[in-house]
Amino acid sequence: MTEGKKDIWLDKSFSLGDRLGLDEVTSAEAILDEEKTMAGLRPGSFADYIGQAVIKDNLGIACSAAANRNEPLDHLLIHGPPGLGKTSLARVIANELGVNFKSTSGPVIEKPGDLAAILTGLGSRDVIFIDEIHRLPRIVEEVLYPAMEDYQLDILIGQGPAAKSIKVELKPFTLVGATTRAGLLTSPLRDRFGLSYRVEFYEPQELKAIVKRSARILGTPISEEAALEIGSRSRGTPRIANRLLKRVRDYAQELGGGGIDLDSVKSALARLNIDGEGLDHMDRQILKTIIEKFNGGPVGIETIAVSLGEDKQTVEDVYEPFLIQKGFLVRTRRGREVTEQAYEHLGCQAQISRQGKLRF
Ligand code: ADP
Repeated sequence: MTEGKKDIWLDKSFSLGDRLGLDEVTSAEAILDEEKTMAGLRPGSFADYIGQAVIKDNLGIACSAAANRNEPLDHLLIHGPPGLGKTSLARVIANELGVNFKSTSGPVIEKPGDLAAILTGLGSRDVIFIDEIHRLPRIVEEVLYPAMEDYQLDILIGQGPAAKSIKVELKPFTLVGATTRAGLLTSPLRDRFGLSYRVEFYEPQELKAIVKRSARILGTPISEEAALEIGSRSRGTPRIANRLLKRVRDYAQELGGGGIDLDSVKSALARLNIDGEGLDHMDRQILKTIIEKFNGGPVGIETIAVSLGEDKQTVEDVYEPFLIQKGFLVRTRRGREVTEQAYEHLGCQAQISRQGKLRF
């Protein structure tokens, strides 16, 4: 980090992504604890940020061009499923630009005054990161438009006939907005981002590299095959790769050796109920429910969520994108349908009869 640079967390609200891939109920303290250890694993530069090559290339050029002109980087929207490195990318950008990084999230900014307090505290060319930007209240969003466009705030002071509007000049800044739901963003807000990228699921080899880097930071020896095995079973998601690494590390430590090899990964993941394709208990429950209760679909997402006693948004944001990417689930106009591949995958473990009930 550059000298004198601050790294300020205005707030860390626990988004759905924090519950990613874990079947157990995770307490807020446990998440907070984990956040602290995970913080050390965050990449600090483009060199440490593995994968997403196209985004990195484009942003690398945009960052150095902006820095050379002494201008802020264009406002940037990053969208994609949780845990794929949106927050990390925003931090990397601030580091690469040598400016301060501030972070908050849409639901936390309740009033225009909250936003004004944040924006007036920004230094020239600083990066402000707003997670879950689709959840900004509409009145706040309207104050954000002139701030993004002209670095100006129009604030209404007082009420009724005595109310007056004052303009506050802001230092030029870069807003990095992240969302799991680009479709929920209003078009005036979306139009104000000069740059927009979608983060994609990672390949096993990329996750292997992330696991090796994290193991190095944690001081845990790990074999090549073990790192690849964790990478292949991490639902294409770095956050999950790091979590699995930590679980496997505990397991390997308890077994005495300390170092992580392929056997310890396999046994630990079996205990965690993560199968060969990286599906966890809830992933399989979703597929089984559609097959058993709804004859394979099509069935609406709400019905699936109710049947599972799970929140609809969690199913939609956390589980569904991966199942679709894996080819186990498709979205049709009439709802979600499981694919032949899902039958086959579950069949390996469950001896299914295509027409009848699954026998697990
Ligand atoms: P998001 O904001 O999309 O939910 P994060 O940026 O918080 O995801 O990423 C979760 C964790 O995964 C980070 O703490 C970081 O350690 C790791 N991570 C994410 N993307 C990368 C990457 N490209 N290279 C290395 N580690 C990554």
